[in-house]
Amino acid sequence: MRIAIVEGDGIGKEVIPEAVSILDYFNEKRGLGFEKVPVEVGLGKWEKTGEAISDADIALLNSCDAVLFGAITTVSAPSYKSVVLRIRKELDFFANVRPIHPIPGIEKCLDYGFLKPDTDIVIVRENTEGLYSGIEELGDERSTTLRVITKKASERIAAFASELASSRKNKLTIVHKSNVIKSDKLFLDTCKKTALDYFVEPNDLLVDAFSYDMLIHPEKYDVVVTTNLFGDILSDTGAVLLGSIGLAPSANIGDKKALFEPVHGSAPDIAGKGIANPMAAILSLKMMFEWLKMNKEAELIEKAVSISVSEKKVTPDLGGNLSTREVGKFILEQVKILD
Ligand code: ATP
Ligand code: MG
Repeated sequence: MRIAIVEGDGIGKEVIPEAVSILDYFNEKRGLGFEKVPVEVGLGKWEKTGEAISDADIALLNSCDAVLFGAITTVSAPSYKSVVLRIRKELDFFANVRPIHPIPGIEKCLDYGFLKPDTDIVIVRENTEGLYSGIEELGDERSTTLRVITKKASERIAAFASELASSRKNKLTIVHKSNVIKSDKLFLDTCKKTALDYFVEPNDLLVDAFSYDMLIHPEKYDVVVTTNLFGDILSDTGAVLLGSIGLAPSANIGDKKALFEPVHGSAPDIAGKGIANPMAAILSLKMMFEWLKMNKEAELIEKAVSISVSEKKVTPDLGGNLSTREVGKFILEQVKILD
């Protein structure tokens, strides 16, 4: 097993090492023989070389089985193309899975109305097309971005979401805006049909209505499937239900490979201060173990994070005063004690 380690920019460089120290622990203790492959891409590289990610980087990532990914700063200069978009496309990570399930004990750190323990949603975001197709024409007077919806990609993501739904409550919510954006009708119809093929009960909501209702009545939802941009926005919104964006992990799944990354970005506003919450990165590692069907390791990580939260050993976003390093160390200690 080769695991690419991409720290990236900003707080990516702070949170990923905390996840890696837990990976190292299991690797040594269990004799897993995982080989770590560091890959340097992102804004830092662009400033040095004029290229944020090279063909050689893509080839190196392609030679790995899984990727643990931090965050990359995407600047709006037209010549700068999003690195993670290129990776998702070239390695064909077609499904972006973003669970929204509050960590038990989080109410000890934060006291606000959005934390409901029975929230258990998984947002499945189509990851290859939609408004992130990258087909754009930029001008001073008029700029356009092409929103591509294909039956093939819609079927593929709907099949993935329906399979997930069959292993849970057999319910699939399709989120779209087909009343105004007519290309969404193809997405909606394809998802509905595919769900029924999997004997899953589909229902659907317009994205604006859903974004409101998800916060007010999260218990109504289980697996949610949506297009690329809506999924991006809704998973940040969904992090409200978790207590912090620093708690939201994600997986980008392909046929044989997968990439695991926190939902948050490189957070330039807090980068270098050592206060970023490492839990989203650590929970992304947990998702990697789940993907590898190493459920014991995944559970240990989840329990350790829950202890950290229950004992208020947390970073400032959760009301604590520990550093990224201290929280990472505490969680690793708990993993060792529980193991
Ligand atoms: P991107 O375009 O890469 O998605 P973004 O603009 O969505 O980035 P983030 O980097 O996710 O922005 O940051 C959004 C806000 O959340 C910032 O105020 C940032 O400080 C905060 N934030 C993000 N990640 C964390 C974290 N791990 N711990 C604490 N705060 C965080
Ligand atoms: Mg973001």
